[in-house]
Amino acid sequence: MKKKIAIIGAGIAGLTFGNLIKKYLKHDFMIYEKEENLSLDEGYGIQLASNSTKILNQIGFDKIDYDKIFYPKGIDFYNIQNKKICDLDLSQFNTEKYKYTTLQRSVLIEFLKDDIYTQHLRFGKRIKEVSEIKDKVLIKFDDNTNDLVDIVVGADGIFSNTRSFFEKKKNKPKFQNAIAVRTILKSKFELIINEERISLMMGKNCHLVVYPINNNKDLNLVCIIRDKKYEPNNVKSLVNKAVNQNQNLKKVFDGELKSWPLYSTPSILPSSNNKVFYIGDAFNGFLPTLAQGAGQSIESAYELFNLLKEESSDVQNSYFQERSKKAKIVKTRTNLNFFVFHFSSSFMQIIRNFFMKFLLKRKSFIKVYLGKVYKS
Ligand SMILES: Cc1cc2nc3c(=O)[nH]c(=O)nc-3n(C[C@H](O)[C@H](O)[C@H](O)COP(=O)(O)OP(=O)(O)OC[C@H]3O[C@@H](n4cnc5c(N)ncnc54)[C@H](O)[C@@H]3O)c2cc1C
Repeated sequence: MKKKIAIIGAGIAGLTFGNLIKKYLKHDFMIYEKEENLSLDEGYGIQLASNSTKILNQIGFDKIDYDKIFYPKGIDFYNIQNKKICDLDLSQFNTEKYKYTTLQRSVLIEFLKDDIYTQHLRFGKRIKEVSEIKDKVLIKFDDNTNDLVDIVVGADGIFSNTRSFFEKKKNKPKFQNAIAVRTILKSKFELIINEERISLMMGKNCHLVVYPINNNKDLNLVCIIRDKKYEPNNVKSLVNKAVNQNQNLKKVFDGELKSWPLYSTPSILPSSNNKVFYIGDAFNGFLPTLAQGAGQSIESAYELFNLLKEESSDVQNSYFQERSKKAKIVKTRTNLNFFVFHFSSSFMQIIRNFFMKFLLKRKSFIKVYLGKVYKS
């Protein structure tokens, strides 16, 4: 039966869901975004493992301009002094059709907006009030427009405002005493790394990730640094925590730096309303230490889309069962990575490096640790 759907938020989750509905289902839908436009100037990079590229290919991602993306074949792990510890072959999860891909977030958003921009996207919309009328939800926006819909999909990020209208139980995101600093590099400067692969350097209370984001070999650098306070005007002194451990890093932080405090959601909670669903970071916000935030946003959109396609009898329950199971798998691994990437004691670093060398060679370990995440 044809349904009317309101999608709140035009991030990766909301746009992916909109594209899937537009391409494969007859439902009416509108994406409501609070900003006045899509932020396409954010140059930062994003990693998409095979679980997400497989889904995106269903909406034409395989036709994307090859020059705007990159297929890194593996990850090289280093200590902060740039001494190689071990590596991981990522191509083992690739197939001919879908591959581990890196790109700029803006390239992904441009791709996702193409088919839905004019007819299915409305800007400057923020929910003011919601009420239920028979089996529908009436949404009133603060510009005095409204929409009467069968389904509401909250895709408005980790601080989901949609949740505050429908859920009594609070699940306030928690600051993880860590900050992410990003920049784009035009060269690898003094780093001894292979620019065609992902490089991950682990230091005391920090780690850095560098990877190519297109075929021009522009490199995305993200540095996660533990700090109890987030002071946006003090980023240069924050990155000194990494530079003090390796002076060769000085030049990589010379360009424009952007920073974000890192939050994650404490619990995985179901929706208390049968007509309301949460996807992406609005369902659960992860730490970025497995590079799965965008991937999980895409997967959650796909899971909900599939249940609607199948006209499943208990969509709400089935969605929560499937989504929470996967979110738990990803959450455990992101938390573990966050812990082991940042050891401050040299003794613990030696033990970690020994185990990493041992485990990353074991196919059975990789299959359990990453295979379960990359399977969609
Ligand atoms: C440092 C860092 C590095 C990362 N690196 C990676 C990576 O390499 N790979 C990866 O997969 N993921 C990565 N992620 C995570 C990833 O970017 C996010 O998980 C993903 O973008 C979440 O998508 P989303 O659509 O759920 O939410 P968002 O991207 O937050 O989008 C939400 C949208 O909703 C809108 N909105 C908010 N409130 C309202 C409202 N009240 N009404 C209407 N609209 C609203 C917002 O303006 C926004 O457009 C990283 C995250 C961080 C912080």
